[in-house]
Amino acid sequence: MAMRTPISRSLRLLSARPHPCWSHPAPRPLSTFRNFPPKSPLVPTAPRRFAEARGSTAVVNASPTWLVRGGTTVAGTAAPQSSKRRFMRLAYILFACVGAGVTTVTVLIGGFFIYDATTYKELDDAEDIELSELAIHPRVGGPKNLPILERYLDDEDSEIGKLSFTKPHLVILGSGWGAVAVLKNINPNDYHITVISPQNHFLFTPMLPSATVGTLEFRSLVEPIRRIVAKVHGHYLEAYAEKVVFSERLIEVCQSHPSVGELRFYVPYDKLVVAVGSQSNTHGVTGLEHCNFLKTIEDARKIRRKVVRNLELACLPGTTEAERNRLLSFVVCGGGPTGVEFAAELYDLLNEDLTMVYPKVLRNLVSVHVVQSQGHILNTYDEKISTYAQERFKKDSIDVLTNARVSEVLQDRVIFTQKDEEGVTHTKELPYGLCLWSTGVAQCEVTKDIVASLDAQKNRRAIETDTHLRVIGAPLGEVYAIGDCSTVRTNVTEHIVEFLRSYAIKSNKPAEECSLTFQQWRDIATNIKRRFPQAGEHLKRVDYLFTEYDTNKSGTLDFDELTRLLQDIDRKMTSLPATAQRAHQQGQYIGRKLTNLARAETLAMTDSGDIDDLVYRPFEYHHLGNLAYVGNAAVFDLNGYSFVGGLVAMYLWRSVYFAQSVSFRTRALLFMDWLTRGLFGRDMTQI
Ligand code: FAD
Ligand code: MG
Repeated sequence: MAMRTPISRSLRLLSARPHPCWSHPAPRPLSTFRNFPPKSPLVPTAPRRFAEARGSTAVVNASPTWLVRGGTTVAGTAAPQSSKRRFMRLAYILFACVGAGVTTVTVLIGGFFIYDATTYKELDDAEDIELSELAIHPRVGGPKNLPILERYLDDEDSEIGKLSFTKPHLVILGSGWGAVAVLKNINPNDYHITVISPQNHFLFTPMLPSATVGTLEFRSLVEPIRRIVAKVHGHYLEAYAEKVVFSERLIEVCQSHPSVGELRFYVPYDKLVVAVGSQSNTHGVTGLEHCNFLKTIEDARKIRRKVVRNLELACLPGTTEAERNRLLSFVVCGGGPTGVEFAAELYDLLNEDLTMVYPKVLRNLVSVHVVQSQGHILNTYDEKISTYAQERFKKDSIDVLTNARVSEVLQDRVIFTQKDEEGVTHTKELPYGLCLWSTGVAQCEVTKDIVASLDAQKNRRAIETDTHLRVIGAPLGEVYAIGDCSTVRTNVTEHIVEFLRSYAIKSNKPAEECSLTFQQWRDIATNIKRRFPQAGEHLKRVDYLFTEYDTNKSGTLDFDELTRLLQDIDRKMTSLPATAQRAHQQGQYIGRKLTNLARAETLAMTDSGDIDDLVYRPFEYHHLGNLAYVGNAAVFDLNGYSFVGGLVAMYLWRSVYFAQSVSFRTRALLFMDWLTRGLFGRDMTQI
């Protein structure tokens, strides 16, 4: 009986002394043996036979795996057999994979149908539904003697609903970024919540330009507000808020009605959050009724229809050349992110889809113009970004007209003035088939009314709040304003002069004669940072500021020196941007604070002075950066770091918004839209 050589020794033997038969092909390196011993039971026969014929115990006892695998040299018969086996094995794996795939798909489809079948319901037997008398016949009252909505039709629908009626009534005006962030961050059981908005959906505005040309579908960008409201056991009223009667805590609400013409009623509140957003700024330009806007889904739908209609009209035989050029001229007034993204999306459509289905000649006739009043487009972004965007547009033949101001929009032409390099102003005109007006934001009617009804409101462009986002002039802690309709008053000087006056009274001196030591100044700076977090950035070097503003080198800051210092800080503090990012952060803040406030009220902490200040810190905005799409490319401005790029940046841009989308449903729809565009192109129908 042959002695068994230990495996390790066999291997050493093999590597040290190659057998003549191994010379072609060369013996495999030892690393090949890592799979030792062989896994397959089919493997050993051929090498064993070969080894026995050679009378080599070492080979017989060594694992045969390597021989079979490398085995073309094995005495003629082994190779075809092994390749047959290999083929059989591959075929087996292939069939197994296909089988597993088919089974999985079948199970998934079967599962889907089973689930789908469970979603169809027969009508339940009509059950008795409790309704409060006040929900059907509301009491009449308030300054205009209108119905007051004290009970709702669905108040009694659930036990939670019945309970929530006893809770403080929180009313939120609007269903946009700010409002939805409040709803997503508030504890559902602390308030009886009502949302009032003419729009019964939340709109994901950053991707709205993509819907104007069919890259995305309208429904992929909206989430029904009732779905979000239901999660906090709240109520929704599709109507416009028109006025707030602060003294009686009533909101005057109105909605047109097919049978009664106009419905008007009051909604009472204990706490009110105003998040009504903004409307397009006209800048006093006439003829804007001929323009398209881009704020709502309806606006995007109108643009999409008009783009396709113009293309169709341009194809008709009776259309003159001049008319064809006009129809295919797209003018964007405003070179901010919305205007730029719309121009980029339009360019994508005309470049990628137009020539596939329309006469090719149209592509040569199409023109896209961006009229921008500043020296650059995207002028609020980093300079590198605006330069990149401008160059990108130049490459794509998008005509960017800078230092150009629109003075009038006629039915078929935009009239504008433009400064040349010598500073001479020329009046020019651009014929258009579609003109988009996107030049910043202005107040809504209800915002104007709130501002006008409160004497303490000084800013005519937005509702002023303190740093706790409470509306200045309204009863303290009852009314908050967030998002585009509001601005945070950061009047550090006013606050400190007040402080100095009280300090002066204590020290029996007129305020103008008081002076602060470094220690006193440091305490004041800490106080300012706490009350005005946004000022913190400008108060990092208190020692340096003290030395710089102590102009008479007295070693103290006197009244005039301090006032100058604070006025400079006030000047440096810019107002917060009108962005979804800001509205979202403010909504989050209010949602969390209201939750804390509800707890404080249960703990009867309400008598302890400034309750808002007690339960939550003042609002602090954290700028996370800006991004914009510029046509198969995207630009990022992330807190001083800018990043521009082509398709990779575009995918990054998409993924940021994909992640920020409000629900799994909208994410699934977004994904399918991108897939559909890739597979079939954009839908160019006029429906
Ligand atoms: P909105 O989101 O506008 O919501 C206002 C809500 O109030 C709406 O539901 C409206 O129906 C409702 N409302 C109006 N009037 C009344 C009334 N009288 N009574 C009751 N409800 C009322 N920001 C970014 O940060 N990044 C972007 O990429 C970006 N892209 C944008 C692209 C476009 C096309 C547009 C239009 C805006 C974009 N923005 C972007 C800005 C961003 O959308 C706004 O800053 C943000 O929507 C402001 O949120 P908000 O809650 O204040 O108002
Ligand atoms: Mg001094």
